[in-house]
Amino acid sequence: MDPPRNTQGPAPDCLRSGRHHDSLSTTPRPRVPVPELPDIVTYVEALGERIVGARLEDVRLKSPFLLRSFDPPLAGAKGRVVREIDRIGKRIVIGLEDELWLVIHLMIAGRFHWKPPAAKLGSKINLAAFDFAAGTLLLTEAGSKKRASLHVVGARADLDQFRRGGVDVRIATTAEFAERLQVENHTLKRSLTDPRFFDGIGNAYSDEILHAARLSPLKLTSKLTDDEIAGLHTAAVRTLDAWIVRFREQRSGAFPEKVTAFRPEMAVHGRFGQPCPDCGAPVQRIRYADNETNYCARCQTGGRLLADRAMSRLLRDDWPRSLDEL
Ligand SMILES: [Zn+2]
Repeated sequence: MDPPRNTQGPAPDCLRSGRHHDSLSTTPRPRVPVPELPDIVTYVEALGERIVGARLEDVRLKSPFLLRSFDPPLAGAKGRVVREIDRIGKRIVIGLEDELWLVIHLMIAGRFHWKPPAAKLGSKINLAAFDFAAGTLLLTEAGSKKRASLHVVGARADLDQFRRGGVDVRIATTAEFAERLQVENHTLKRSLTDPRFFDGIGNAYSDEILHAARLSPLKLTSKLTDDEIAGLHTAAVRTLDAWIVRFREQRSGAFPEKVTAFRPEMAVHGRFGQPCPDCGAPVQRIRYADNETNYCARCQTGGRLLADRAMSRLLRDDWPRSLDEL
């Protein structure tokens, strides 16, 4: 990786924190998609079908860095029956009998796989195996940076440390949604993807939600009318629900082995240059750091193109940076 170059005044946070940066290059770097709410909900459903009621016979760690807590010990999880599967934001929570929880954060490249019993941990991408009589839940993480994490928690109240404060838009009332949206004045893209405000919305689904709502990703939250806020809330709920249902239908009982942010059924995300499914105009993009946001100018900005370079400067401190990871 090249060291970041500073060519335009003060560096944005993504450079100061050493994150990789290529806003000036012409080819976007292929990004590993961050699991978002529909992916996480799908994992919760598929895990619930397989391991709730089953005994966790063994936990095998390949990477010692995965485990970020030491008390209570992980060994205490062995032999306990799984009572519940839940999620806190983007974290998956495996609740075991007698007050013990395993909290797994997939970060960017962490993934679950369901394998036959006693699956081997040989490959470098494997982090841990959770063994059940019916199969092995394998946790993997591609790439050299190991960021996925596992915490063992011994009291339900201690799960609160993992809450970022974002609300699930599917549960929030429109008044609650409006309050969160306007707590700080940001671009819509930024506010929707901030885990302090909303739960589980990242780069892909924010693009899809904004397209469904016919709103510009760069519109400031302070400038929204009540009708626009209500429309955005409806679009957010419908978009996320529709994807959760689609994933459920697509896997039809199988374990979700492929998490990807680029799906052919998406309207704009990952579809730069392709026709908008609603109006046929080519999908546009704004690139900043290692992010790209996609939108339809005809549907969302009154036909106005949002230029890359100028917007990068304007957005310097108002762009979702590493928030996807939180
Ligand atoms: Zn369109």
